[in-house]
Formats: sequence, structure tokens, C-alpha cells
Amino acid sequence: SIMPATLSAISTGARNGVLFKGGVHLEKLSHLQAIAFDKTGTLTNGKPEVTDLITRSDKEVAEILSILSSIERESNHPIAQAIVNYTNMLPDVERLEVQHMQDIPGSGVTAEIDGVTWKIGKPGFLGKEAAESFQNGVLKKLAEQGKTVVFIGDKYGIAGLVALKDTVREETKDAIQVLRKNGVYTVMLTGDNETTAEAIAKEAGMDNYVAECLPEEKVQEVKLLRKAYENVGMVGDGINDAPALATANVGIAMGAGTDVALETADVVLMKNDLPKIAEAIQLSERMNKVIK
Ligand code: ADP
Ligand code: MG
Repeated sequence: SIMPATLSAISTGARNGVLFKGGVHLEKLSHLQAIAFDKTGTLTNGKPEVTDLITRSDKEVAEILSILSSIERESNHPIAQAIVNYTNMLPDVERLEVQHMQDIPGSGVTAEIDGVTWKIGKPGFLGKEAAESFQNGVLKKLAEQGKTVVFIGDKYGIAGLVALKDTVREETKDAIQVLRKNGVYTVMLTGDNETTAEAIAKEAGMDNYVAECLPEEKVQEVKLLRKAYENVGMVGDGINDAPALATANVGIAMGAGTDVALETADVVLMKNDLPKIAEAIQLSERMNKVIK
């Protein structure tokens, strides 16, 4: 049976935009010593915008844009949506027939157009050497601005790159600061590259970050945290985050997140409201005092 104090705290949470899937999760919140956060859609708005386009040769711009647009149309990733929004605004972008489309979570996509196989995704996904030899220094400068760089290439090498900027949520910095003041260790997990991850983590004011983190590696990071800390939380919004949410002692989903994240989580922030985490921890503390 559920105690009146617990019931009352759960309903207080619900009135304030935090949904608890049971009293035990509410109870555990005040014991969290570390919280891992997904980057895109959790610490950031999750709506990146294309800021730069660089191609191998000027002649290829329209062709590259058409390929990017046609392939990314088939992907649900926020980056794909941003690229499609961008190409929709430009002239001379053709809709090409796409075959054998494959989404590789945490890396990118591959697809065939007119018998040519294209890869679109993070630099490492297209081959390390090719990525590094392309436009020396430019890549780093973009990443230092917190931009995510996506490459497009065929078997001949890199054909171009798109840089996208996703903004850190207005409330993220304060939310993280309050948690850190209360002694919670905060770490950002992202599939993005090292330099971009560092820039965003700094902007958000995190204690630490892990870059180049594939979906299954997010689970490993949460497991590592659980070895160092007794109670670990994980906050995320994507399908990719669901296994890590399930691995944490308390999984927290952003309310606008994907169904899988919402189903897997123990706690849901109904309005994507990160400051509610610290508030919910306080609620948990008060409730635990009444119960004990
Ligand atoms: P995050 O952890 O920041 O939410 P993901 O793990 O979803 O990011 O993806 C990691 C990286 O893989 C992205 O930064 C991007 O470079 C690349 N990527 C993933 N999906 C796509 C896609 N559909 N198109 C282009 N790049 C992609
Ligand atoms: Mg995300």
C-alpha cells in the first residue's frame, strides 16, 4: 500500500509538471549523487539549424544539396530534419530516388542514388583520414563554436560537409548549477565529436562530458557511474537513450521525448523543464523526512 505522504508528494509533483511512475522513484531522487544527461534535445533545444555548407568543388553544390536532401528526408534524426528544412528553402534542389536507405544510430546514414552509395554522418563514420585531411583547420573552428559537423561522401572520399548549431536551452545552465551546488555530479553524454562536445558542455556548465558515445556506450557510461556512485540518474529524450534510462537508478525523460524514452523512464518532466529536476529532488527530501 502507498503511504499518504508519498501519495501527496506524487500529486504535488504532477501539479508541478513532474510525473512519477511510482513512489519508489520519488523516494530515490533525493539520494542521487550523479546525473548523466543526453545532449541533443535534453541540454539543447534539439532543433539544430544549418549554419555552413562546404563542398569539394563549387560546381557540385546543387548536386550535393539534392543528395543530402533526398537521403535525409528518409531519416528521423533532428540533424536530418534540419538539413531537409535548410534545403527546402534553396533553389535548384532536386528530389532524387533513394534506395537501400540505412539509419545507423549514433553515426549517420547510408543510401544509394543512381547506383552510387553515399554516406552521411559524423566525421569518424566516413573514415578518419578523409575527415582529417579535408579543409585543414576549418573543421576544428566549426566544432569550437559548438557546431556539429556532418560529412557527406562517396567511395572517392569526402564530397562536402554541413555544420549545424543547436542552442543550449535557456534554463540549462541554471538547472545544472543548482544540481552541482547540491553536490550532484553532472556529466553530458553525446555522440558528437570531442571538440563540439567540449564547447557545449562548457556552455551548459557541466562537471564533465563523454564524447563520441554510441547508444550502447551511453549504457556503459551509466554503469561506470554506478560503480563510482550508489545512486545515478540519467536524463534523456531519444530512442537511443532508452537503454541508458533503464540502466540508471532513476531514469528521467523529457516530456517531448520519443515514446520509447517516455515508456522506459521512471520520471517524466512534462514540459521538458530541466529546473524541475532540482525541485523534484527537494520534494523527495521533504517526503523522505515525513516518512522516516
Ligand atoms: P547526440 O548524442 O548528440 O544526441 P546522436 O548519438 O544521435 O547524437 O548522433 C551522433 C552523431 O551522428 C551526430 O552528431 C551526427 O554527426 C551523426 N548522425 C546521426 N544520425 C545522422 C543523420 N541522420 N544524418 C547525419 N548525421 C547523423
Ligand atoms: Mg537526444
